[in-house]
Amino acid sequence: MKSQEIRKEFLEFFKSKSHSIVPSAPMVIKDDPTLMFTNAGMNQFKEFFLGNSTPKDTRVTDTQKCLRVSGKHNDLEEVGHDTYHHTMFEMLGNWSFGDYFKKEAIQWAWELLTEVFKIDPDKLYVSVFEGSDDADNLGLDTEALELWKEIVPENRIIYGNKKDNFWEMGDQGPCGPCSEIHIDIRSDEEKAKVPGRELVNMDHPQVVEIWNLVFMQYNRKANGDLEELPAKHIDTGMGFERLCMVLQDKKSNYDTDVFTPLISEIEKITGNKYGEAEDANIAMRVIADHVRAVAFSIADGQLPSNTGAGYVIRRILRRAIRYGFTFLNSKEPFIYHLVPVLSKQMGSAFPELRSQSGLIENVIREEEASFLRTLDQGLVLLENLMKESADKKISGEKAFELYDTYGFPIDLTALILRENGYELDEKGFGEELKKQKDRSRKATQVSAGDWNELTNVEEDSFIGYDNLEANVKIARYREVESKKKGKMYQVVLDKTPFYPEGGGQVGDTGILMSSEGEVIDVLDTKKENNQIVHFVKKMPERAEGTFEAIVDRTSRSKTASNHTATHLLHQALRKILGTHVEQKGSMVQSDYLRFDFSHFSKLSQDELEQVEDFVNARIREQIELDEKRNLSYKEAVDQGAIALFGEKYGDSVRAIRFGESMELCGGTHVGNTADIWYFKITGESAVASGIRRIEAITGEAAMNFFEEQSEVLGKIRDILKNPKDPAKAISSLQEENANLKKQVESLLKDKAKNLKSDLKQEIREINGVNLLAKKVDLDAGGIKDLCFQLGDELENLVLVFGTEQNGKALLSCYISRNLVKEKDLNAGNIVRELGKHIQGGGGGQPFFATAGGKNPAGLDKALSEVTQFIK
Ligand code: ATP
Ligand code: MG
Repeated sequence: MKSQEIRKEFLEFFKSKSHSIVPSAPMVIKDDPTLMFTNAGMNQFKEFFLGNSTPKDTRVTDTQKCLRVSGKHNDLEEVGHDTYHHTMFEMLGNWSFGDYFKKEAIQWAWELLTEVFKIDPDKLYVSVFEGSDDADNLGLDTEALELWKEIVPENRIIYGNKKDNFWEMGDQGPCGPCSEIHIDIRSDEEKAKVPGRELVNMDHPQVVEIWNLVFMQYNRKANGDLEELPAKHIDTGMGFERLCMVLQDKKSNYDTDVFTPLISEIEKITGNKYGEAEDANIAMRVIADHVRAVAFSIADGQLPSNTGAGYVIRRILRRAIRYGFTFLNSKEPFIYHLVPVLSKQMGSAFPELRSQSGLIENVIREEEASFLRTLDQGLVLLENLMKESADKKISGEKAFELYDTYGFPIDLTALILRENGYELDEKGFGEELKKQKDRSRKATQVSAGDWNELTNVEEDSFIGYDNLEANVKIARYREVESKKKGKMYQVVLDKTPFYPEGGGQVGDTGILMSSEGEVIDVLDTKKENNQIVHFVKKMPERAEGTFEAIVDRTSRSKTASNHTATHLLHQALRKILGTHVEQKGSMVQSDYLRFDFSHFSKLSQDELEQVEDFVNARIREQIELDEKRNLSYKEAVDQGAIALFGEKYGDSVRAIRFGESMELCGGTHVGNTADIWYFKITGESAVASGIRRIEAITGEAAMNFFEEQSEVLGKIRDILKNPKDPAKAISSLQEENANLKKQVESLLKDKAKNLKSDLKQEIREINGVNLLAKKVDLDAGGIKDLCFQLGDELENLVLVFGTEQNGKALLSCYISRNLVKEKDLNAGNIVRELGKHIQGGGGGQPFFATAGGKNPAGLDKALSEVTQFIK
């Protein structure tokens, strides 16, 4: 069975059990502060388990793109070294939201594996939770045990501890006991030596877990306590790549058709053969795995960067580059060549890969090139470190600097040091790393209390498209604390006119006013796990009361103007540059907008003007907003609405149309394009390879911009005495200025020449020394030049010049080199001595030194004393 068919077969099976097939959520998570990436199929359904919202279907099935590289589930270090953990993998799942429970979940899992996929039951083991005698004090899962006993012989049932058989997504949130299904794919010979049940959960590469059936029945609270969930749910997750390994009768995930096309391409490019040398095998697996993770995140809109999720992606890619560099001897970018292979293979299940493969290739190639340069620089730095170390030891601090400042991987440092017989203080490095982690954790730490429940949240609680004010109640609230913002409260209302940050648009601000007249400022509004959270600094005295929720109107309408302008801008870019332009991110605030999009080159002035003209023409056309709510996703896309990759769309979507452009969008917009007044681009720049950014303003901000410009122009006109054409007037001033500069320069040169010949006349010979001590009108640089010019022309010179510049005194002394030796004269000593008269000090070299001071009146006295040094 090909992997494509296996995926399909799984979904079809659950469809036949009344499940609806839903799409994978994006891999990069945007509205959950506790999670950066989807790490399990259940993430996108968390709100249903918590009871924050009610699902349309109580039975669904899907394949979910997961990434396990950070947080509670982090498999990064295993990947490549073993044959069954990936960074990015697909998790096949079936779900019950308060519908069926353990009985059906267990029976269907068994039916699918043994009857549909025809896996020999003798290869399978199942596990049940044995209970825990820690603070949670949970008992054996007898319900699951009894159900399994009806299906499999008792010697195939394993009792598992909390680590293996109690599933938790993170430190807080829904959780519960689980039953895992493991498979033993060893040869009969191997099996005869050690029974399979002894190898379950022992990290044996051929006795692996394939499916986990989680019985969601608890919520883990902030203080660590468990509470029963209001309803019981099923959450299952089966590793797609592992299932393919079993069904294709392979011993490694990398030998299935999910990976072989990638591996053979790597073989072809690098000239290595998979299966020959262990180091190279690991490297090939690492690269085949990581390119998937990176490509899928870029397709989801997450580019490699220096912070947050982008940094995690950059590190994954760098890990792949580094394995290629060291073990496959790849010194040139090559991983980007795998993108077409990947998109050919996965593009039909995940169309986002296919449509963006050009961009993905570009981004990966750039990252490779720049990291390979870093590696080269790092190698030089490391060599220097080795040269400098007398005892053949490199401190943890030095290695950490290389790692942290230059991005040079520590395992590479360790390897090179080992090869050269040097020792690395790994413990010291570990300590530095820990210090850094503590620092960054402290900087971002967020702690959240439990929710205090007051009343229910209404269905479709957001009423802010039509209302900016409403009478509301507080449904729930909790205290949160972050390093950045300190102590705050999150408040959820029964319904709310406040728009929560999303789709690039900032959250609304405003106030909550109690019926007693108490006013609470709403500082920000965000969406977290599908509930709308208002941030306030203090809770009202009576949280149970009723409130008037009032959105800041001015700020909202400016934001709306900028949001609509981004749609028109998007339309303009696709018209003028071409339909390869795709939105890659946006930021819509009240004072400006920012729009990132895929395009290969800088926009010319002419293109920028065309874009502005296009948008302003739509504004002048006074196009009415055409808004459709509650369309099905398919309906909307069929009607031509543009959807964004990496956004999670629900069953019913909202479509916004202004003229020709129709986009899926949850943001707030103006009622008519005329409300935008005017659109003005203020900046165009590059964000990453193949991604450009336009910044712009509209409405009042555009008006202020033009007013300021006109004021500046007015001032210029005034200064120039009202010329007809100020630009021309400035150009001719500049030209005149340049000519004058030239003239001044040549005059100064003449002056210096004259001065020099005048001064020559004044030199007097005393005791075989040609001496001159005099005040001159030159700056420090001019005096120095003069000294050295005279020095080239005359011998046995002692020159001391004094000058006054901006109220300060300067003494410079020059002595011919032969005098320094023969007469033991020292310019430094002379200026130091003479400097006393000008209340200053200085120094320099024996043949030239200067002293600066505060008292120009002392210059004459100082100069008069020079002869003493010669006598
Ligand atoms: P393991 O112990 O093998 O790491 P797990 O207990 O972390 O697995 P779950 O969190 O229960 O796994 O995830 C459900 C299923 O997803 C697993 O049964 C497995 O088939 C698959 N899976 C988990 N982690 C990975 C991974 N890193 N790569 C590929 N598949 C995975
Ligand atoms: Mg795991």
